[in-house]
Amino acid sequence: MKKYLVLPAVLLSIAIGYSQKNKNAYELASPNGQNKIKFELVKNAPKYAVSHGKTEVITPSDMGFLLKGNENLSTDFEIKSVKNSTFDETWEQLWGEKKNIRNHYNQLVVELQQKGKNKRKLEIQFRAFDDGVAFRYVYPKQNVKDSIFIMDEKTTFNLKEDGKAWWIPANRENRDEYLFKDAPVSTLDTVLTPLTIESKSGLALSFHEANLVDFASMTLVNTSGTQLKSDLVPWSDGVKVRVKDTFTSSWRTIQIGEKPADLITSYLILNLNEPNKLKNTSYFKPYKYFGIWWGMHIGKYTFWESDKQGATTKHAEEYIDFTAKEGFHHLLIEGWNKGWTPAWYENKMHMFSFTKSADNFDLEKVVEYGNKKGVALIGYHETGSNLINYLKEVDEGFALYKKLGMHSVKIGHVGSKLNMKEMHFGQFGVNYFRYILEKAAEYDLAVLYHESIKDTGERRTFPNMVSREAARGQEYNAWSEGNPPNHLTIIPFTRLLSGPMDFTPGIFDVEVKQGYPGKRVHGTAAQQLALYVTIYAPIQMMADLPENYEGKPALQFLKDVPTDWEDTKVLEGKIGEYITTARKDRNSADWFLGTITNEKARDVNVSLSFLDSNATYEAQIYADAAGTDETHNPSEVAISKKTVKASDSLQLHLGGAGGTAIRFKKI
Ligand code: CA
Repeated sequence: MKKYLVLPAVLLSIAIGYSQKNKNAYELASPNGQNKIKFELVKNAPKYAVSHGKTEVITPSDMGFLLKGNENLSTDFEIKSVKNSTFDETWEQLWGEKKNIRNHYNQLVVELQQKGKNKRKLEIQFRAFDDGVAFRYVYPKQNVKDSIFIMDEKTTFNLKEDGKAWWIPANRENRDEYLFKDAPVSTLDTVLTPLTIESKSGLALSFHEANLVDFASMTLVNTSGTQLKSDLVPWSDGVKVRVKDTFTSSWRTIQIGEKPADLITSYLILNLNEPNKLKNTSYFKPYKYFGIWWGMHIGKYTFWESDKQGATTKHAEEYIDFTAKEGFHHLLIEGWNKGWTPAWYENKMHMFSFTKSADNFDLEKVVEYGNKKGVALIGYHETGSNLINYLKEVDEGFALYKKLGMHSVKIGHVGSKLNMKEMHFGQFGVNYFRYILEKAAEYDLAVLYHESIKDTGERRTFPNMVSREAARGQEYNAWSEGNPPNHLTIIPFTRLLSGPMDFTPGIFDVEVKQGYPGKRVHGTAAQQLALYVTIYAPIQMMADLPENYEGKPALQFLKDVPTDWEDTKVLEGKIGEYITTARKDRNSADWFLGTITNEKARDVNVSLSFLDSNATYEAQIYADAAGTDETHNPSEVAISKKTVKASDSLQLHLGGAGGTAIRFKKI
């Protein structure tokens, strides 16, 4: 009998990968045992460490907070209880880069209480997954009613090894719209996450956060050597987080891969968010869309009312005709409303209207015309970061779209600070972006955020968060020095780890002949096609002008490529150099492949072993034409067909800043 009492307990602790080392030390392992978190109370202060196999990743690091009045919530603790559990489920994404996602982890929850006068409690939750680890803080309701002011987070990440970090700066004018640079971890200043590191240990690491609600975004600051520390984005008065009675931080996440490509098919961030809370999502299905948009960026049209105004009823009807003729169903129109001026993007409390159309634009007439042609309009709310104005009008604005039967809205927040006061990434911004997302759901609207807070996986809980910008997109090619070719080979390993991006690909006239002198896309047209596979988003723009698509055989690829996938495989990739991604269509037997390179021409040998081994496919190949690269004949796409099987491989030549896009059609 005794055996039966002892044995299950032993089995249980092995099964959930948890063990107690001494009174104050615990170890949690991932289901396959590779990733381990060690928790220990050292001189009454909580510490954690992380390892992968035999490799130490994070050496003992600090935890906790500093509260107002210099009250230290990072020491003077004792352990009140320790709970462990295991979880394993496979859930289905309504739409996504992969249909079925396994959420398998072991969890350790440590309840701490301070011994001193306030006897504050703090709970730390750890989860170990096979693709990384995460932890978060829960400050439970305590006996006294209290306002909590977090002045600083004490969490550190003491990296055992230095490494090459791919970073963009935090808390700057242009939010997260910067070019990634690489530098040793030991030389970083304050950086945004996801922060991806190629560690000297050989591992690929990415630091980010998940399920960010009513808290400040975490940025990372180098404090000494290879130690990074959480640096919460503050309110304008310097307080980092203000809450009543209780708080739950976002999960601090560390994705761990044997190689950088592993990070892309890690779904840890999504798994750390709550399941879908929306009852109705039937109003949204993934799509591709055209827009009255690029014309404004290249100076052909204006956003504001003028004789070059882009959003006129006449242009709208022409774009609707083109969209319908080519067999597409969605059109974005920017600048449709009152409030635009030539200085609209400057830091000022601009007064946009969200209900009144511009003089030359009749919203109801355009919607009706679209309905006749089977083309739905995507709404657009540019707030100019004047949220005082926007929050007064948002209900009316959303109600107008609902009345007209519109189900998508792009919401822009151009400006360095919200209300010219608060940083986008602070708690104020975090709460604002969540509030609008929930409100949009009430009006059956899918949201496309621009100039937003970073993505932390909330699309799992609110699938109406369909995409966002939150990085340096295509528009920079229209009016700045542009994005260098390596940008597109960096973002899949960095920014895109956080979620879908509205990069707005698909420029066919990459030299932008109708645009500003010297401004252009720094890549080839074939590379632009490949982006529909290397970048995931459930809505993808076809950003160029209709006249640049008209009659081009390569437009066929944009007709064929889906924006909703059964599965994703990253076949190879080196950050900043190249990436090859294959995705299986969710609604057919087809596979699609995109491969792109930085400024260097490259020969790529692709094994087709991802294809169904019992089938034959027609590979429809859209490649850089012979001799094509960024500066030679960059808009020419060579289209060819080939019969292939899973046992074959394809030799592909990519010109400098080039790419290849392929549809594998089952025959
Ligand atoms: Ca932008």
